Amino acid sequence: MDLDLTWLLWGLPIAFALGWVASRLDLRQWRIESRQTPKAYFRGLNHLLNEQQDQAIDAFIEAVQGDPDTAELHFALGNLFRRRGDYDRAVRVHEHLLGRADINRKDRDRAQHALALDFLKAGLLDRAEAALHKLEGSAFEGEALLALLAIYERSRDWRQAQAVAQRLEAAEQGSFTTRLAHYQCEEAELAQKNGDTALAQRLLGDAVQHAPQLPRGWMALSALKAQQGDAAGALAALKQLAQQAPQGLPLAAHALAELAQQTGRQGEVLVLLQAAHERGPSLDVTEALARLSPDAESARARYLNHLEREPSLVVATQWLAGETLSDPRAQKPVQSALEQASNPLKRYRCAACGFEARQHFWHCPGCQSWDSYPARRVEEL
Ligand SMILES: [Zn+2]
Repeated sequence: MDLDLTWLLWGLPIAFALGWVASRLDLRQWRIESRQTPKAYFRGLNHLLNEQQDQAIDAFIEAVQGDPDTAELHFALGNLFRRRGDYDRAVRVHEHLLGRADINRKDRDRAQHALALDFLKAGLLDRAEAALHKLEGSAFEGEALLALLAIYERSRDWRQAQAVAQRLEAAEQGSFTTRLAHYQCEEAELAQKNGDTALAQRLLGDAVQHAPQLPRGWMALSALKAQQGDAAGALAALKQLAQQAPQGLPLAAHALAELAQQTGRQGEVLVLLQAAHERGPSLDVTEALARLSPDAESARARYLNHLEREPSLVVATQWLAGETLSDPRAQKPVQSALEQASNPLKRYRCAACGFEARQHFWHCPGCQSWDSYPARRVEEL
């Protein structure tokens, strides 16, 4: 009995001491954990600054686990997943944010915008479109409309693109007049392919009325009229181009020469092309002038005139084609060598991305810019 009592006397203070130590340990553990959240966050930031995205993601996951209520950490993590191309996880993070009841309106819109960007980057255009429409009336509306415009351009939905461009113009987000005219020209092309020339004509009429400074509308209208057998109407459209969009004249020079010959109005077209040539020589204008010349000798005089004003391998090659070399065996190989050397100089080059092509584009297939191809060839740039 005595022995049991002694144990009790010793046991009580020991149990008390052990309890106290355990509670202190818990408290220390809690303090360590609460300090770990910012530490992991800053570690993540540090990795980001060093462009170590994988390590940054690990650190942010740790931080989010330590503090699941912080919206900022979720945004940082979601954006990182998107940048890494891990769209599934980016979507999950942003959908988790949207599903939270405690999130404020501003963060909800931000999460909705981030989610739309995830879908866009993943190429899920339908889902991106739906997510962007939910941003109407939010602070992200302008950005959402621009992203919608990019989606409609990619899917070649020109009617929807026109509607969005009109809304952006009304919201004073910039001038979309030229872009609208491009959309109308694109839609007119489709209408023409489907045999609806009346719709094509109406759309092109709108395009040249709203953006007369855009050569494309005049050129498309001229081509449509020529296709309908109205050469005089086609020529009139290109004369309008020369007046209202003179920078695009080199693109229309060959069609102008062709229509002049068809209508027998070489004289007035020659005057028009000559005036353009006076303002600054252009390969295409010189070629059109040569084509309208009455004989081979005066055509070669046009080339020589161009060379006197501006050196050009392309024009020199054309001039040489009519020249007889003293050694007749040299004629063919010299001519073909010069043609081969000058062919790359006849390309068009996008001023935005440098993409080169044999044909002129209104919408760069490389970088999707509008009007980034000058009307002049590579040699003239
Ligand atoms: Zn480009």
